[in-house]
Amino acid sequence: MKILMVSSEAVPWAKTGGLADMVSALSISLAKLGHDVRVVIPRYYPIDRSVLKLLPGAMGTPMGGGIEEWSAIYATDMPGTTKKNPVKVYFIDHEIFFGRDGIYGSPTETDFIDNSRRFTFFCRASLQLCRKIKWYPDVLHAHDWPAAVAPVYLKFAERVPGSKAGFKKTVSILTIHNLGYQGIYHKDNFDYAGLGWDVFYNAGFEDWSMLNMLKAGLYSADKINTVSPNYAEETKVQAHGFRLDGVLRYRSADYCGILNGIDTNVWNPAKDKYIPETYSVKNMEGKAKAKEALQKEFGLPKNPDVPVIGMVTRLTDQKGVGDLFGPTYGSAWSICRDMDVQMVLLGSGEHWCESEISSLSSRLSNFKAKIGYSEKTSHLIEAGSDFFLMPSRYEPCGLNQMYSLVYGTLPIVRRTGGLVDTVENYNEKTGAGTGFMFDQLNPSSIYNTVGWAVWAWYNKRKDIEKMKKRGMTQDFSWETSAQKYVELYEKTLA
Ligand code: ADP
Repeated sequence: MKILMVSSEAVPWAKTGGLADMVSALSISLAKLGHDVRVVIPRYYPIDRSVLKLLPGAMGTPMGGGIEEWSAIYATDMPGTTKKNPVKVYFIDHEIFFGRDGIYGSPTETDFIDNSRRFTFFCRASLQLCRKIKWYPDVLHAHDWPAAVAPVYLKFAERVPGSKAGFKKTVSILTIHNLGYQGIYHKDNFDYAGLGWDVFYNAGFEDWSMLNMLKAGLYSADKINTVSPNYAEETKVQAHGFRLDGVLRYRSADYCGILNGIDTNVWNPAKDKYIPETYSVKNMEGKAKAKEALQKEFGLPKNPDVPVIGMVTRLTDQKGVGDLFGPTYGSAWSICRDMDVQMVLLGSGEHWCESEISSLSSRLSNFKAKIGYSEKTSHLIEAGSDFFLMPSRYEPCGLNQMYSLVYGTLPIVRRTGGLVDTVENYNEKTGAGTGFMFDQLNPSSIYNTVGWAVWAWYNKRKDIEKMKKRGMTQDFSWETSAQKYVELYEKTLA
């Protein structure tokens, strides 16, 4: 199959979250299965043009009000793919829209005022690129709101009577990575799309008189999916639907969940370059060494007998940090005060939370945190901790709990989204399970469930050891997920 990935992010060029990892990992896995996969992203300012190949000739993109003539296309091959079947990556260059630092915003302008135009242009230009290189995909696979208008153009501008040949047989998939971000802007921006105001309503852009880019994609794509089966179910109800649950119920026959994979070359205790000694189910000595190194790095007393609870997280409401670190009511303080545990955290995000965490660090001898971003420390936390805490408010898929499982670190998670698809709750009677789960998000649920895990650590040690090994043998590889995407593409084409 010929597959075009349209995305605002892809590693190693542009990343703000899991979307960037997923787009590249899925593309590489699909290429390994023999498909012709190409990726298109904007050429943001920090992406060095001098190492890319400039495609000859200018490219005009028809937008409302005329042709955008400024764009150029650069190309390269995705690292990790073969010369025989590389994933080609195209970069849409448009100085006015993308020649600035920041993907969606900057510290002073968190959501660029022209984001609707920037990404509408990007979607139109992605299709125009196919015309330029005379390569038409069987499947156009768009990701999240910045690419959501690509399926709209396909349906309302390309696959309509009288339009130029090329895309007549192309089908579209839209993947939701996080329903919390929808690209909602003033409807005055719609003229720029050049689609006609009937399409504003027919394609589903209209959202209480505003313009909602994701909603239009959800209406217009041939099939839609999200990154875990359970999140697909949850988003069809009001509590998790971010006002689009009605649209998702309406599209439910065409809507499914496919669990993301993890990069097993990077996140694998048997190969990990960041930990003092690699380990596996057969030889767990390296895990004990990692725990020792972790305690040292965070300035905690070296003690193999006390359970270490780790966290690596964005410090935002989605991750449940309010109930954990909220001043006066958060549960982290009472967990560390009442239980014989050590707690380590790596993260950055909302200022109130960063400062609350720094203050806790200075007041508690068994809670230590690093504010910032560090790949190396995140690996050490996954390997060296005994438990990994994720009290997420919502979690479309979640990667950290999968990393934890394969590193023999038991997740303590809220029963939500992809956490339900990946973690099995401990059963005290049978010893079954791979982690500890709770339902309600509030400080006492977190406190009680951490307490339950800590109790099991001190009283049910055999169960804990078995659970670790059970987690380490789970298959979260991208090969399995890519195969499911192939099935979805085939179903859509059929
Ligand atoms: P989300 O994408 O919602 O933030 P996920 O669990 O899906 O949550 O993925 C988060 C990814 O970002 C993981 O790979 C995690 O290790 C990484 N990460 C988050 N914060 C940090 C940090 N401060 N330092 C290093 N890695 C981080």
